[in-house]
Amino acid sequence: MNNVGRFAPSPSGELHFGSFVTALGSYLQAKSKQGQWLVRIEDLDPPREVVGAADNILFTLDKLGLHWDQDVVYQSSRLAHYEEILNLLIRQQVAYYCDCSRQRIQQLPTHIYDNYCQNRQLTPNSTQSMAVRLKQTFPICCFIDNICQRQRVSQSERLEDFVIRRRDGLFAYNFAVVIDDHEQGITEVVRGADLLPVTAKQLSLYHLFNWHPPSYYHLPLVLNQHKDKLSKQNHAQAININNIKQLIVDGLQFLGQVIPTDWQDANREQLLQWAITHWNIHCVPKNDQILLSTDE
Ligand code: GLU
Repeated sequence: MNNVGRFAPSPSGELHFGSFVTALGSYLQAKSKQGQWLVRIEDLDPPREVVGAADNILFTLDKLGLHWDQDVVYQSSRLAHYEEILNLLIRQQVAYYCDCSRQRIQQLPTHIYDNYCQNRQLTPNSTQSMAVRLKQTFPICCFIDNICQRQRVSQSERLEDFVIRRRDGLFAYNFAVVIDDHEQGITEVVRGADLLPVTAKQLSLYHLFNWHPPSYYHLPLVLNQHKDKLSKQNHAQAININNIKQLIVDGLQFLGQVIPTDWQDANREQLLQWAITHWNIHCVPKNDQILLSTDE
């Protein structure tokens, strides 16, 4: 089977060192296996979107020499398709409407949804917006991540009927990502360890659809000096593309890879080619949160 990897940024800001590391790691993993590397813009959440961010991310990837295969897919162009699948699940009674408020769920002992609406047979009316939840028919108790190893999922989490369309009408990331990864033929998902906890939910969707799941590799997160994950929401500094070779070397170092001693003499292409040839996913640190970024 041909190897297909992907980078799937949400356009909520420019690339920072954390998202750059994810782009670099997923690119090297795919290219080291002579695979394709796709880019998908996950623009499902217009309120969190920053105007121009998608174009800026693509421009930056190009400058970095991380050239993608095939056309970029925008999730915003696939809403009708998600809707069709969602309606099918509702008709098959595998998904149901839920009018529970966030406050109600917060008051539950575990803060995990208790599937309260599962048998209430709610139907939406024009005055009340409702979420749609998936009946958890394929609970996942554990799974293997190829970097972070075996992951256990607590009983309450694995049985939670999770949201596939939010009450504001937006499709949930966990729903769209599975449909897209499957339909784009993704064989390996390399992404940040912040998404490790939701992987079991995504795997339960693969089981429901009877689709073969990709292999997962969750990279360590880059933290700032306050030990928070670098994120667009906490205004992590955008990467500096004036010194691309240094940036690639910093990314490789973060990912535990060997750096060529004469990298200063190489050009961007040679450095990336060297990184592809020497890429070793087993050298990526296993801790799911490491290293403090010095650039903040
Ligand atoms: N869109 C997600 C993000 O930017 C990544 C999704 C994924 O890689 O599965 O954090």
